[in-house]
Amino acid sequence: MKRYLSLTIALMLGMLGGFPGVNRASAEEFGGNPLRVGKVEDLPEDFIMGVDASSVIVEEDSGVKYYNFAGEEQDVFATLAESGVTHIRVRVWNNPYDAEGHGYGGGNNDIDKAVAIGERATRYGMKLIVDFHYSDFWADPSKQMVPLAWADMDLDTKSEALYAYTVDCLTKLNEAGVAIGMVQLGNETNGALCGETLWPNIQQLMQAGSRAVRECCPDALVAVHFANPENASAYANYAKQLDRHEVDYDVFASSYYPYWHGTLENLTTVLTTVAEKYGKKVMVMETSYAYTIEDTDFSGNTIGEGNNVIQNYPYTVQGQANEIWDVINTVAHIPGGIGVCYWEGTWISVGGSSWEENAAIWETYGSGWASKYAAVYDPNDAGKYYGGNAVDNQALFDETGHPLPSLQVFKLVRSGNDVPLAPDVLEDVHLMVNLHSAVKLPETVEAIMNDNSRQAISVTWDVTGEALQQMSDGGVETYEITGTADGLSARCYVHMVRRNMLVNDSFEDGDIGWTITDLKKASELYVEDKVTDSLTGTKHMHFWSAMPNSVEFTVEQAAENLAPGAYQFSISIMGGDAGETDIYAYAKIDGEQVATAPLTITSYGSWDTATIENIDVAEGQTVTVGIYVKCAGAGNGAWGKIDDAVLALMAE
Ligand code: CA
Repeated sequence: MKRYLSLTIALMLGMLGGFPGVNRASAEEFGGNPLRVGKVEDLPEDFIMGVDASSVIVEEDSGVKYYNFAGEEQDVFATLAESGVTHIRVRVWNNPYDAEGHGYGGGNNDIDKAVAIGERATRYGMKLIVDFHYSDFWADPSKQMVPLAWADMDLDTKSEALYAYTVDCLTKLNEAGVAIGMVQLGNETNGALCGETLWPNIQQLMQAGSRAVRECCPDALVAVHFANPENASAYANYAKQLDRHEVDYDVFASSYYPYWHGTLENLTTVLTTVAEKYGKKVMVMETSYAYTIEDTDFSGNTIGEGNNVIQNYPYTVQGQANEIWDVINTVAHIPGGIGVCYWEGTWISVGGSSWEENAAIWETYGSGWASKYAAVYDPNDAGKYYGGNAVDNQALFDETGHPLPSLQVFKLVRSGNDVPLAPDVLEDVHLMVNLHSAVKLPETVEAIMNDNSRQAISVTWDVTGEALQQMSDGGVETYEITGTADGLSARCYVHMVRRNMLVNDSFEDGDIGWTITDLKKASELYVEDKVTDSLTGTKHMHFWSAMPNSVEFTVEQAAENLAPGAYQFSISIMGGDAGETDIYAYAKIDGEQVATAPLTITSYGSWDTATIENIDVAEGQTVTVGIYVKCAGAGNGAWGKIDDAVLALMAE
């Protein structure tokens, strides 16, 4: 609940006019929004500020209440419109119900839900983006399943069915008076749609959908939607295929999740290429970012503790706002860039106090990502892993239904919000200290500022000299120390470790100190700078080779002038596609191998650590420790990562 406290203080400051230099009208208009938000220059008046709100109806059925910025219960669509949102996106599944009428979950989003959501969006002056999945349940790059009712149709019959279905749905929306701004021909259709995987077939279906939209909604834009913009050649190919088969569309839309989808520079390049080469409008159709690492509904989140993803922003409300700002600013400056749509901004916890309580609600109302009833359609995924909400920490409302200040970014980008530069969150400090050495805590901690820049700021640690001395005198242990820096709480973890006799033990200084012997000419064998693939720090030893039996190498380091005694050595590795392997850590005394310990590689993120104990070293002897790796290779070629070597006295 800490963030509410700081938010309350910031709101009070805002109401007192406490932000120097802030535009007075702006401060009043936004009720003292505490977030630092820049003005996006040259932002078109009609830029689409979208929020996917597909889950709202089942959320309300589940007992969820939504509030406005004054803390009063209010139609969530009114709050969205007041915050600058111009378009509401809604997914449409053909028939997400089993034969007994049980919903598959994920909002049970059939056309009736779209009509109900569209009517409310229209009431508050917003337009609808209709996201046809042309499936009975979730469609994305991993699956594009054909609706059950169309399963046995040949391509021509299915195309006519898709046309008739699209006409029927759009007619229902038109008859309900829904303002339709855009219609999507499928969702994240990376090389598949409606069970078809050949481009001529996919595009015959898209063309049938497009024809229906042009006839029913001549004023609406027709969009195609893909994911994984980090794969530039795939995007170039999608656009080329659409052009070759003369699909009639207006908008080439992309998902952009910064955890996985490459840089904003790359996004700019791939969308600019499509926009200029084919004369199309472009937009980001889905993006989102976590405002907290906490799960709020007892159902684990896509972005949670222990995730190994690229984190360009802190998991705070300001971090979420900065992500949205960056995507809007990027698309606004792409030629033909027309808008950004935030994915599932209103999908929050259903509010039960246990998993069991929530599970009963998800199953009854369809407010989890999938219910057990989905097994009849999607037995291998939904049927096995059905449950709650994996993105509640990425919504634009908190777990009690109150809007986050980040929701107002859609409006604030037009004027800016002149909040002074200040630390948003502090990075944890990890201090490795050799046993019996003095524990010296850092005088500064790294702050991520509210403009996403970084600064070292001074910190006061809440610890006594006596306690630090006890850490130094004790054994191998990790201690947590708290502190304060600029009003924020700081944390330092002191790891008391045996003194490591190796230099550059985590490859942070490249290959300094290490001898790399490539026995089979691997395609790639070098120190790589990639934080997500490192066990600690940002670098590690990387290898990959496409050809079979081309991975065989050693990486080793010699240590001289050691104090006599018994030592231990450990080293870690992960990798995959390795086929048959022979991998082990080894220790040599004066060039003669004295011990080995086996290692295995299985899959990404599964680190294996080998430890060799009781390496007896006498006066004047040289110890050489290292890792031997030999892989036959499989799939796309053997690959792996090696990190964190430690050679230390066993007893100190
Ligand atoms: Ca969750």
